[in-house]
Amino acid sequence: MTAWMAIIVALAWGAGLYALRRDLRLAWREPCLRRPVLVFEGDDWGYGPLDQVAALHALTRVLSRHADAQGRHPVMTLGIILSGPHPARPEDLEHGLDLDDPALAPVLEAIRAGVARGVFSLQLHGMQHYHPAVLERAMQQDAALQAWRWHPLPCTEDLPAPLQSRWTDASVLPSRPLPRADVAQRARAEVELFQRVFGRIPAVAVPPTFVWNDAVEAAWADAGVIAIVTPGERYERRGADGLPEDTGRFYRNGERSDGGLVALVRDDYYEPVRGHGAGRGLAALDRKWAQRRPLLLETHRANFVGRHARLADSLEALDSLLEQALRRRPDLCFVSVEALAHAYGGADADRLFDHRPWPRARALPARLLTTGRRRKLSLALVATTILVVLSAYI
Ligand SMILES: [Zn+2]
Repeated sequence: MTAWMAIIVALAWGAGLYALRRDLRLAWREPCLRRPVLVFEGDDWGYGPLDQVAALHALTRVLSRHADAQGRHPVMTLGIILSGPHPARPEDLEHGLDLDDPALAPVLEAIRAGVARGVFSLQLHGMQHYHPAVLERAMQQDAALQAWRWHPLPCTEDLPAPLQSRWTDASVLPSRPLPRADVAQRARAEVELFQRVFGRIPAVAVPPTFVWNDAVEAAWADAGVIAIVTPGERYERRGADGLPEDTGRFYRNGERSDGGLVALVRDDYYEPVRGHGAGRGLAALDRKWAQRRPLLLETHRANFVGRHARLADSLEALDSLLEQALRRRPDLCFVSVEALAHAYGGADADRLFDHRPWPRARALPARLLTTGRRRKLSLALVATTILVVLSAYI
């Protein structure tokens, strides 16, 4: 290779690495797991139909059947909804039926039984899976929507998706921001109700439909929440089409939000009612392990309970994924998201994370090559280098 070719290649690599410097720094800084980790993230449990009781007991049985090398059962986090329309006064959305009401006692018992067995770990999903005043406004203009609250213990999954967002006013689209004081008061109240029902402040919160903002984070942190589950990006409002809008605010595992919450990233899905099977879960596990990141697999209550649920098939899909994952990766580790949050926050981090430079360097390409721009830039650099080297010898 002539000297000028070597200079061109070196300059191209220099420019490429300079363009990726921020990504490189962030990817290097994010802790690397010692062993593969799998957690199921079950959202939307709590308030709702009593069919949940059988589903929760069945989930407990399936999860209890498996264990990692340390003897720990797989964990499904339950994103808890604490309240919903009261069957005796459904017109009053602000004062609903809470999860500790005797009418919901069998659900609460089934949740507690799974926690005692070590297979459920509870996270705050919300007081309601909607904003009561916003839903009320939307209902004033929509008779079909009005009917929803008259069903006994209705499923919030049946509401239009924009109205399932609790932290934006989607009674009109594009949605509008809510007053900061309203957000702070509601966030505080839901943490207090969680504490009343379960005897402890929730460590982890999961914003409904992943639409939230700084005010929500600050209020949760003030109330004692330590971590937030994100899809890797924050959505703050719904657009004219009703879909969440990109904000460009990204999160990595272990990053501190401005409010002081530890962020965790959940961007893989395992929804058996949508045809997801063990193969999909195993591919996600491989991908996340190459990145030395935990696999948080989102799997909604709707797989197990409600109009579209297929309970037996969904349980079978979970069972089969766990069996195959343990066979393929005997060093697989089952922990809760709360334990991960503590480790990313710095407590007991050495047990879960490998701080040696070589494993961290090995995770870098898998972490960097996940998005289109970085992948294209890296491939262009490699291709240019190969072309220049080849041309020097031909
Ligand atoms: Zn949800």
